[in-house]
Amino acid sequence: MEDLKAAITAIHRERPLSTVVLTGAGVSADSGIPTFRGEGGLWRNYRPEDLATAAAFARDPLLVWEWYEWRRSIVREAKPNAAHLAIARIPNTLVVTQNVDGLHQRAGSKDIIELHGNLFRTRCVREETRRDALDAFGTLPPHCQCGALLRPDVVWFGELLPVGAFERAGRAVRAADLLLVIGTSGVVFPAAGLVSFHEGLSIEINPQLSAISSACTFAVAANAAEATPPIVEAIIDARTHR
Ligand code: NAD
Repeated sequence: MEDLKAAITAIHRERPLSTVVLTGAGVSADSGIPTFRGEGGLWRNYRPEDLATAAAFARDPLLVWEWYEWRRSIVREAKPNAAHLAIARIPNTLVVTQNVDGLHQRAGSKDIIELHGNLFRTRCVREETRRDALDAFGTLPPHCQCGALLRPDVVWFGELLPVGAFERAGRAVRAADLLLVIGTSGVVFPAAGLVSFHEGLSIEINPQLSAISSACTFAVAANAAEATPPIVEAIIDARTHR
């Protein structure tokens, strides 16, 4: 683990005071939640890119909801792993996540930007009203009291991010002393573009090389639950010995 050692040495040298953590599906892989890309994560014979779109929902809302109910059932049973828990311990941190599973909140992180929404919220397609929806629906697809369909309150391929979310994330990435990039393939834009906003120390944790590995100062080839805790210990330790 030479790359992990080198990243920890850099943290001790630079002693970062502020951190932004950008996470993707890989940070939740160690909680048993399938990623979109990489191994596993197949659902019937569909590709996520063919189901997570407004066009797919308009064509077949029942099929799309069945897929979301399957994902929601997996996430409901899952628990935050050592990576989520370690991230929640970093002082002065903003978590910018592409994930829709809510595990950063459940791990105790307080300042979180959910770029792609949340699986446990619905939105009325007519009134645009949002509601928490933790439990499984009795009948699919679910409907609003107004009679219109409810959709998951997530950002589908081709849709815009929540107003202001990317701008706030971009400002924070620019200003942060340290950027941690954990478990993202770096191919979903605009989220992946955030990495290029950061000029200082950046550390990626991902067992595979990603599209943004070469943009980071260090690419630690390891699982999130394994490499995040020692990185976080180094951040806390470096602050204590400033
Ligand atoms: P992705 O599926 O495109 O890529 C996952 C990345 O995680 C890959 O690079 C893979 O090598 C890496 N990875 C796999 N196991 C890992 C581990 N144990 N530790 C660290 N990294 C690991 O995911 P993405 O980049 O987040 O982008 C795709 C979209 O997928 C996002 O918009 C997101 O909303 C959605 N998504 C979210 C969830 C979730 O909320 N948990 C799950 C699947 C997909």
